[in-house]
Amino acid sequence: MLLNLFKKKKKVDSKNKQHKNSKTKGNSQHVANRKGEIGEYKIDIQLSQLPKEYKYLNDIMIENSKSITGYSQIDHLVITPYGIFVIETKNYQGTIYGGKNRKTWLVNGKFKMLSPIIQNYGHIKALKYYINKKYHDTFFSIVSFTKRCTLKIDSELRDIKSDEFVIYDLYLTESIERKVSILKLIHKEPLLTEKDCLEIYHVLKDANITDAKARADHNFKIKQNKEEKSRTESHAKCVVCNKSVSQKVASFCLSNNRFKGKVYCYEHQKTVV
Ligand SMILES: [Zn+2]
Repeated sequence: MLLNLFKKKKKVDSKNKQHKNSKTKGNSQHVANRKGEIGEYKIDIQLSQLPKEYKYLNDIMIENSKSITGYSQIDHLVITPYGIFVIETKNYQGTIYGGKNRKTWLVNGKFKMLSPIIQNYGHIKALKYYINKKYHDTFFSIVSFTKRCTLKIDSELRDIKSDEFVIYDLYLTESIERKVSILKLIHKEPLLTEKDCLEIYHVLKDANITDAKARADHNFKIKQNKEEKSRTESHAKCVVCNKSVSQKVASFCLSNNRFKGKVYCYEHQKTVV
């Protein structure tokens, strides 16, 4: 009895430690950059409540020669005995139109974004480079949107039985648990031992680029690329004056509660209270 109590306490301690480590890992510069992106913090809390044998990592940046910046950034990663879940979070507001085979998805029918499924597929490919081949079939892709979105996407992508699916972020841990229960029924035995999970966790933790300069360069290049693209292909217009705005401006409006899913030019943003 006493021994049990002691064991329990030890488990709780190590869980707390793991949580603390993964929280302090991301450099403060980057945390600051993301402050506007509501939802990230709630996901951190959700993930910390997963069973203790699950390992998770937040905000991982790894090298990826296929990416325009030379890097890939992964929002969240959960390693379970039944698979590795790679999570891409989106914080748009509005109606999301998308499909499994559509390269471009739309927010509110206007603002274009690269299919987050394709984006996350790229992340998984980049992660595989670091991970032993024997684990390559255990990846699952999850894309999450906030409840401020209405999802108008293929029902196939909303099916948790699929290897890649889209959810609302507040059901993230619930979805992972459900998916694991389904996998348990299929496989009977875990696909990854505790040792495998730890190995994967440490390989990715070591691959994670924490250098502030490299991260800043990556964000700068993404920004630059977005601006360049927006000049050529933005279809977004201000709802007040109908002036074309860049994708960056549209994205800013659509991810900001204040604008209620509408796009405003820089001038007219000031008129919205
Ligand atoms: Zn305007």
